[in-house]
Order: sequence, then structure tokens, then C-alpha cells
Amino acid sequence: MSMTMKYRRVLLKCSGEALMGPTPYGIDFETVDRITAEIKAVHQLGGEVCLVIGGGNIFRGVAGATQGMQRASADYMGMLATVINALALQHALESHDVPSRVMSAIRMDTVCEPYIRRRAIRHMEKGRVVIFAAGTGNPFFTTDTAAALRAAEMGCDALLKGTQVDGVYSADPKKDKTATRYETLTYLDVLQQDLKVMDASAISLARENRIPILVFSLHEAGGFAKVLAGTGRCTTIIGE
Ligand code: UDP
Repeated sequence: MSMTMKYRRVLLKCSGEALMGPTPYGIDFETVDRITAEIKAVHQLGGEVCLVIGGGNIFRGVAGATQGMQRASADYMGMLATVINALALQHALESHDVPSRVMSAIRMDTVCEPYIRRRAIRHMEKGRVVIFAAGTGNPFFTTDTAAALRAAEMGCDALLKGTQVDGVYSADPKKDKTATRYETLTYLDVLQQDLKVMDASAISLARENRIPILVFSLHEAGGFAKVLAGTGRCTTIIGE
């Protein structure tokens, strides 16, 4: 397959919930395999891919806080959840012969590499898919913010948000039949209209660093590669 890439180095943000598939909790390995196939297709076209995976399928800090835990401790549990997901993804990538490295923002040297920016760039240049785990390493942040941060640090051409639907809608398309899909939006539109794309700090970071955000569906086979080629269905969020 020959396809020219509009975006060469990209970061894909995938929520923890995306790994649950049809199950109510945790990791559905069939779903992880499907996402892996999407990544492999891009990797085979020569795209440099790095990933940030959420942890919401296992634990969210706010959930712990509502049970009386200190928010910071609960957030550490959430960050550890993202490491569990990262290892599942690494396993799936390896079983598809895609070389990968997990780099954690919280050191756990017997499990994976610590995050070192220059080293991460080197891995990508060598054709390895880098999975950034443990978010930013700080409580009170989200993996959306980690995704925008790492995309800026890696000098990514785009930040991709893989979701359940093919872009950003004016309302939830699964609940509201009149919902319309946006082809393009500005960072300011998203912030001012409080559109549920990524949290505000992630949008601001992407805006400051002029990294386009592409929101697309993880459910269309070959969709990730098409979006990177500039021919896929997605909402593009860019500067004004
Ligand atoms: N988290 C954190 N700092 C970070 C990233 C994540 O404390 O930089 C914690 C936070 O508790 C969050 C949990 O990890 O609830 C899981 O991440 P997130 O909710 O972003 O996952 P997603 O919604 O994408 O599955």
C-alpha cells in the first residue's frame, strides 16, 4: 500500500475506556488487538508513532477521592493503572511484530524504562513505538494533558485522539439525532464552547505549541492511517 503521510510523527491518545471494548471493566484483549492493528498499519507506512494511554478502565483518582482517599494518593493509583494498560499494549504490539518501548513518568526500572525525552525521540527514530505511561507523573493532571505535553516534547506533527465516534459533534450523536459533526474547529472554539474533546489544559498546551488535534474513530478499520494521510474522517482542531 502506498500512501503519503500528511503527518509523519504523531502521538495517539487513547482513553483507558477504549481498551474495555464491550466489557464493563479492565482490558479486553480482542479490542487491544484491534487498536494494535491500527497502529501497525501506520508503522508499516513509515509513520513514527507514540502513545499515551489513559487508566479510566481500571481506576480514576476522583473515584478514590469520593471514597475518602486523599486525591493525590488516589491519583497515583490512577497513574499506576495507566502502566498496566501500557504493558498490555506493549504485549499486543510485540505479538504483531511491532517493536515498542514503555517509558514511565514514575520510575519503576524493573518494569519499564524511565521517561527520558532524548531517549524517547531516539526510540522513535529507530522505528519503535513508544508508549508513555504514568501520565505526567503528577497528581491533579490527566492523561489528556500528558498526551499534549509529550506531543510537544516529541515535536509531533499532530496529536490524535481516538474516540468512539468520528469527530467532535455539537451534541452527543448517540443520544441526539440532530447532532452535527464539525469538520474543523479552533482551539478557542473548543475552550469557549466547552466542547468535550480533551481537558482545557491539554487544549491550551496544544494551542501554544501549534499542534493540530485530530479527533477520529478507533472503530473504523484502517481509519488511523487514513487520517494521517489526510483522507480519513475526523475533526481537525487548529489555530485561529
Ligand atoms: N493521572 C494523574 N496524573 C496524570 C495522569 C493521570 O494523576 O498526569 C491519574 C488520575 O487519577 C486519572 C487517572 O490517572 O484519573 C487515569 O487517567 P485518565 O483519567 O486521564 O484516563 P482516561 O480517562 O483517559 O482513561
